Amino acid sequence: MQYYHIKKKFKTAWQKKILRWYSKNKRNLPWRQKKNQHFYNIWISEIMLQQTTVKTVIPYYNKFIEKWPNLETFFEASLDEILIIWQGMGYYQRAKNLYLAKEILKKKKIKLNLEELKKLPGIGDYVSSAICAILFDQNCAVIDSNIKKIVTRTFNLEKNKPNLEKNIKNIATELTPLRNNGSYCQALMDLANLVCTNKKPNCLACPVKNECKYEGNTELKTEKKLVKKKIGITYYIKFKDSVLLQRSGDRMLENLYCFPMTSFIDNNNELDEKKLLKQIGNNWQKINSITYKHVFSKFIKHTFSHFHLKLFIIEIKLNSKKEFANYEWVLTEDIVNKPSSVLMKKIQGEVFC
Ligand code: SF4
Repeated sequence: MQYYHIKKKFKTAWQKKILRWYSKNKRNLPWRQKKNQHFYNIWISEIMLQQTTVKTVIPYYNKFIEKWPNLETFFEASLDEILIIWQGMGYYQRAKNLYLAKEILKKKKIKLNLEELKKLPGIGDYVSSAICAILFDQNCAVIDSNIKKIVTRTFNLEKNKPNLEKNIKNIATELTPLRNNGSYCQALMDLANLVCTNKKPNCLACPVKNECKYEGNTELKTEKKLVKKKIGITYYIKFKDSVLLQRSGDRMLENLYCFPMTSFIDNNNELDEKKLLKQIGNNWQKINSITYKHVFSKFIKHTFSHFHLKLFIIEIKLNSKKEFANYEWVLTEDIVNKPSSVLMKKIQGEVFC
């Protein structure tokens, strides 16, 4: 690993220019307001900002804080209430982790430091450093994809070289200021989003253009991933005015209510769709001791972050009520009160139309 020793003169200029730029260009975000400089607000915003853009997060954050303005009120939140607020933002495991973490905080007070914070569900290196930097001005390196991009470009690091991550960490740590790290790390986040953008960095407007060695060839391009195609079946099973629902165990839709579903299987080669569907349908039928006719006329399409799903809908009307081990009967009119995903709403749109 190459050890980057950065000269003091460079560091001073770098930090000064970035902080000066921030004082003039800082984004006005709700969690940055003075009254919101508390652990609770920073924690919620940092968890929401993982994998979600600032623009999307703002209304969710505002709704969340309106419902639970502080940690004490949040202690009373149920998992379903949190999931209902989270509906549509995706990566629902974050909501579950918030719930688990606040249950821990409700029982015992913890020290708000780097190591203790990391013991809470959903808090890793990045979130714990961001909280400590923003809240206590601690000089810990805060490294997320934004900071990685700026460091990689500035030092012209080659993306396919081994030790890239270690080198970035080493440089980011060297550049972290002893004071004002809260502003500094937020400045880098803004710089990465407003100036050093992924596609076309606006180098002419950049405060560190003289320090930067970017030659346009160190793009952190993510190789174009082959987008997978998957298929699956969902069951709209009705008895009188009730329908069968399950709590999803899927990581993407964790704990949200949905209609019973088979697992999703790859169908990249456009294989015999009906044959595959019958196969997974038969398995599901066997496990749940239920029989139905394979009529695959209705389907919806939905795109997750890493695959396209074609989900077929089988409607079954039961003449007598049957109990299922992993599912629960819910009155049709109560479905709206259950936390559910965009996918579930699409299915509802198809079966209720
Ligand atoms: S000079 Fe350009 S590439 Fe370098 S940090 Fe600034 S915007 Fe990014």
